[in-house]
Amino acid sequence: MNQSKINQPCPSTSPRSKPIPVRNPRSGEFDYQILAPTPEQLSVTCDRLRQHQPTWQAKGVTHRIDVLQAWKQALLERKTALVAALTTDTGRVSESVLEVDSVLSGIDRWCRLASELLAEANPKTAAIPFIDIQSQSVPYPLVGVISPWNFPLLLSTIDTIPALLAGCAVVVKPSEITPRFIEPLMDAIAAVPDLQTILTYLPGAKDTGAAVVDAIDLVCFTGSVATGKCVAQAAANNMIPAFLELGGKDPAIVLASADLDLTTTSLLWGSMVNAGQSCLSIERIYVAERIYQPFVETLAQKAKQLKLAYPEPNSGQIGPIIFTQQAGLITEHLEDAIAKGAKIHCGGQVETLGGGQWCRPTVLTQVNHTMKIMTEETFGPIMPVMPFTTPEEAVTLANDTVYGLSGAVFAGTVAEAQTVGQQIDAGAISINDAGLTALIHEGEKNAFRASGLGGSRMGPAALKRFMRKKVFLTKTNLAPDPWWF
Ligand code: NAD
Repeated sequence: MNQSKINQPCPSTSPRSKPIPVRNPRSGEFDYQILAPTPEQLSVTCDRLRQHQPTWQAKGVTHRIDVLQAWKQALLERKTALVAALTTDTGRVSESVLEVDSVLSGIDRWCRLASELLAEANPKTAAIPFIDIQSQSVPYPLVGVISPWNFPLLLSTIDTIPALLAGCAVVVKPSEITPRFIEPLMDAIAAVPDLQTILTYLPGAKDTGAAVVDAIDLVCFTGSVATGKCVAQAAANNMIPAFLELGGKDPAIVLASADLDLTTTSLLWGSMVNAGQSCLSIERIYVAERIYQPFVETLAQKAKQLKLAYPEPNSGQIGPIIFTQQAGLITEHLEDAIAKGAKIHCGGQVETLGGGQWCRPTVLTQVNHTMKIMTEETFGPIMPVMPFTTPEEAVTLANDTVYGLSGAVFAGTVAEAQTVGQQIDAGAISINDAGLTALIHEGEKNAFRASGLGGSRMGPAALKRFMRKKVFLTKTNLAPDPWWF
């Protein structure tokens, strides 16, 4: 793989406070702007959050649950404004609604779990009977969350909610590509005074992100592998933990026994939702040779039925390509594949409509692993399909990647699919479905290989990432210890 794609020079940590123009992905016009904080403003903000964090921690989990429930209510009251801002930022409607709903249900889910997860274990006696052991979990004072543009609201809150419940203060630096939602979101934070003291969002670009990493005690980063490496290096320099959720090139394996109709419909959603601009998008499909022809025909026929959400945002299913640079990358991957002999069954190019950039659902065959479209993250509505002769060959192809985020296996029986899924080197495998980690956040998982670093952001373990363990070792007798001089 071209290493320049997953390596980049890291920025300076002195944010510039000049306005950053923001593009509307439907019109192509730069019709909004954000102003990043100066280094002094950033430092004052982080100091303020730090000052309030001990009170937040001391007030206990029941209080924190009440405050988050009040925030949920404030978000609900601003749902229309949030959806409108997200829709303008991203050009798509239904995924914007899904984002807001998912944040609301995420608050409820974590509030239900928090008290039990944060309960301290009873003291116990050590192997040495006159020493008692009492553990305590101590939150990191200030957590930094840095998030990408593809699900701007959801990915800026996914780590924020459990971090707050754990007792941390949080500073969030969302993507500069899709920042309009920050206004209604900050409004909802301001409506809950106790929350406003320990949570804030800072607009800004990569230099603000880099400055945030220098001002915090733990970083949760979601974004590209190249930036993740910069964040990991900065975190190492600062000796702080870094939880990195990065890119993917998720494979799907379709065994000969799979149900053709269900599998093609499932993969269509798994590849096309958010116009493929999703880390867990299915980006390569390996199909058993025996069913390859009917599979491709059915998939292409279904893909052709999906329509662009244009000109009406509420029409169709496929929104615009949100980020211009991504549209350039999709074109690069398509041109590379076509030059190397790939056949296009539908879609196949980025087109400009009304100033926005769009790509129709694309099915490609005659693809192989010399093509970028099979090895590098494309982040578009593209389904390259490749036949295999044995399940072993399919597993080898699925694992022929630097990534290991997630994947999917389809088969006639769960056992057959699981046997293959166990051999895929990735942190989450959907069985007879695709992209389930988009909706199911309860299962603990790690990102494998270059797709990430650190503990699970899903399931109960996610909350524990924000606590350090401290132990009190208490001597309970008055006799001299046998090991003393
Ligand atoms: P990106 O890496 O360009 O930017 C992500 C964020 O990092 C932005 O807020 C940006 O301003 C900030 N940033 C940039 N340089 C920085 C630095 N040196 N220090 C600190 N912050 C910095 O990613 P993107 O283009 O916004 O998002 C797309 C990528 O995100 C894709 O690779 C996608 O797969 C990945 N992603 C992963 C997940 C996941 O859960 N694994 C989810 C969504 C997106």
